[in-house]
Amino acid sequence: MSKPRLLWINISIFVITFLVALVFVPYRAVTHGFDSFEIVSLILCIGFCGMSITAGYHRLWSHRTYKAHAFIRFFYAIGGAFALQNSILHWSSDHRVHHKHVDNNDIDPYSAKRGFWFSHIGWMLRDYKPKTYNDYSNVRDLQKDKIVMWQHNNYLLLAIATNFGIPLILGLIHGDIISSLLLAGVLRLVISHHVTFFINSLAHIWGKQTYTDKNTARDNGILAFLTFGEGYHNFHHIFENDYRNGIQWWHFDPTKWFIRLASYLKLASDLKVTPEDKIIKAKAMMQLKQSREKLALKHNAELIIEQLQREYEALVQQVSNYYEVKKQLINACESSPERLNLSNQYQQLKRNLRASIKQWNSLVTSYA
Ligand SMILES: [Zn+2]
Ligand SMILES: [Zn+2]
Repeated sequence: MSKPRLLWINISIFVITFLVALVFVPYRAVTHGFDSFEIVSLILCIGFCGMSITAGYHRLWSHRTYKAHAFIRFFYAIGGAFALQNSILHWSSDHRVHHKHVDNNDIDPYSAKRGFWFSHIGWMLRDYKPKTYNDYSNVRDLQKDKIVMWQHNNYLLLAIATNFGIPLILGLIHGDIISSLLLAGVLRLVISHHVTFFINSLAHIWGKQTYTDKNTARDNGILAFLTFGEGYHNFHHIFENDYRNGIQWWHFDPTKWFIRLASYLKLASDLKVTPEDKIIKAKAMMQLKQSREKLALKHNAELIIEQLQREYEALVQQVSNYYEVKKQLINACESSPERLNLSNQYQQLKRNLRASIKQWNSLVTSYA
């Protein structure tokens, strides 16, 4: 079977911008130099594009992990066109297919099982047209959003206006149009493109399978640093309705912080989080599985495996008890006499659970 036809418009955009960023940007830096205004503009434009994709296209529209005010949706719609990654509607449709059929080479539009190159950029260079291409039946909810449809119907115009207009305006304000077109225009686009593409490629190849091994998605702190927090991709694929990707306070997830900040400013609401018991159980299950696999290679490890299994079951039971009491406490009315009793019970179970998780973690790491 012959390969699908090449998409020359996409190829030209990727190749030309990449070569300009590789050759003309360093040349300009050496012969002319860039000043702080130009560098700060570059960083802000990368942030504008990046956040519009991660907080907007991804966590708001593709996964509906929170609700956002029209003002912020408009901000994302403009930033998404500036990021030149197709319309919200198209991007979200592709992304929902990616989640539903992850790693299925025939359906997942950027299946990581087809290799790094394909999942990174190759899928956009030829007319692969997966079965679902331009079938927007999986984004009917988004078609009710006026901002989404306005951006979709005017995408080309908005993409050209932002990609030329924003750098031109910055250049006119500052008095150096060429430097601005090179930095805020081209270098910004190349960085913003490849950083997002890493989520489809590297985040499915490099890192830990902390919560599930049913798909190729990985958790990777370094990638999170480069991708506005999207590097905790293993967590994201199992708990896709969570507005966070990095769930610990020390996880680098600026998208989560941005959404939280927007909620303090009343620009975002209904931030969804996964119940903690589900997270603990998924992680413990993977730890058990990985430890069993390692122990299976050793001689006479049957007793240890049995002990590990028992410890795991006890932990899962403890998690269930803890969350049962937590639920009862939340539902108990403020003045009920049993509330104090429940509250004490809850505090005790919480302390015990923390100690058990610590103990379980040291047990599994001793077999790692
Ligand atoms: Zn996703
Ligand atoms: Zn993915």
